[in-house]
Amino acid sequence: MRPFDYERPGTLDEAVSLVAFDPDASYIAGGSNLVDHLKLGVATPTRLVDVRGLPLADIEETADGLRIGANVRNSDLAAHPAVRSQYAVLSRALLSGASAQIRHQATAAGNLLQRTRCVYFADATTPCNKREPGSGCSAIGGYDRYNAVLGTSESCVATHPSDMAVALAVLDASVEVLGADGVRTIPLADLHRLPGDSPEHDTSLVHGELITAVTVPALPDGAVSTYYKARDRASYAFALVSVAAVVAGDEVRVAWGGVAHQPWRATRLEAALHGGPLDEDPIRAACADELADAVTSEGNSYKLAMITGATAMVLTGLAGGPR
Ligand SMILES: Cc1cc2nc3c(=O)[nH]c(=O)nc-3n(C[C@H](O)[C@H](O)[C@H](O)COP(=O)(O)OP(=O)(O)OC[C@H]3O[C@@H](n4cnc5c(N)ncnc54)[C@H](O)[C@@H]3O)c2cc1C
Ligand code: SF4
Repeated sequence: MRPFDYERPGTLDEAVSLVAFDPDASYIAGGSNLVDHLKLGVATPTRLVDVRGLPLADIEETADGLRIGANVRNSDLAAHPAVRSQYAVLSRALLSGASAQIRHQATAAGNLLQRTRCVYFADATTPCNKREPGSGCSAIGGYDRYNAVLGTSESCVATHPSDMAVALAVLDASVEVLGADGVRTIPLADLHRLPGDSPEHDTSLVHGELITAVTVPALPDGAVSTYYKARDRASYAFALVSVAAVVAGDEVRVAWGGVAHQPWRATRLEAALHGGPLDEDPIRAACADELADAVTSEGNSYKLAMITGATAMVLTGLAGGPR
């Protein structure tokens, strides 16, 4: 691991100026993703700015929904009574991630900003456009079981790893950020990006912007929601594919994980199913339409059938009543 300076700022503004004006500085929260990357030489900041001492660890029930401080631990968020009772999809997504020990360490903001689990990204001896722009993509034509099938580019076929982000996508959440130019709100749908020809940028954040909170609007009365994750082991494994869903009267919301470089909000599928019966045949037809532009390789083509079956199971289950 390379040497670095370590700072513990006393205020949000101090934290932002320490990172915003130093291109080689990085925030650190729980460290459960970043420290691995420091050890592997994938991340090489010369200054770490520890945000865990900042007052960003509250969960507030507001008139509009929920406000989750950036430092709230994944385990505390999953167990919060309002999350368990009103946002089952979020609680389930969090509990499907990592292990109890890691969920105690991981924070809301860190979870959203964790980096891809593409095996080549973590291996500094291989070409990877995300780690080293312009070096090539070892995953294309390489080990392709985990690759994305939607929204890929010739530069990168990595998937986004966060379960929580997929749940927040279907909840129409936003993140509040503080940067050198002040405060702004970013809809979650605009936070993570497709790789295009610059996969080194995972998000739309400007260097130095500090996530301070995640806001989640209240769900409509009578809404039911859930999260389903298909994976290689019953726990401690990232998603092969995952489905976050909300059903509220005529409205159907679906987001997919494990299929793209960002949580994939299935808007075509949602439009097709709006107001219609949530039966197997229309759901499968809507999935086929949503997947019409999918690009697969030999190793990851199973994802199409898997995401279709998972979506049908989740939506018919939700249509059968509260879960
Ligand atoms: C073995 C293992 C299994 C896992 N399995 C899963 C899984 O199944 N599903 C899943 O979703 N996750 C999984 N994870 C990932 C884990 O959830 C993340 O490592 C964790 O959520 C990151 O949070 P952190 O607070 O530790 O972030 P850190 O490692 O501290 O930071 C991660 C990134 O976020 C940035 N950052 C942190 N806070 C802020 C802020 N407030 N503003 C701006 N930038 C910030 C950091 O600069 C860094 O780039 C797994 C991790 C491990 C090690
Ligand atoms: S898929 Fe993306 S992260 Fe993986 S090797 Fe290719 S460029 Fe790197």
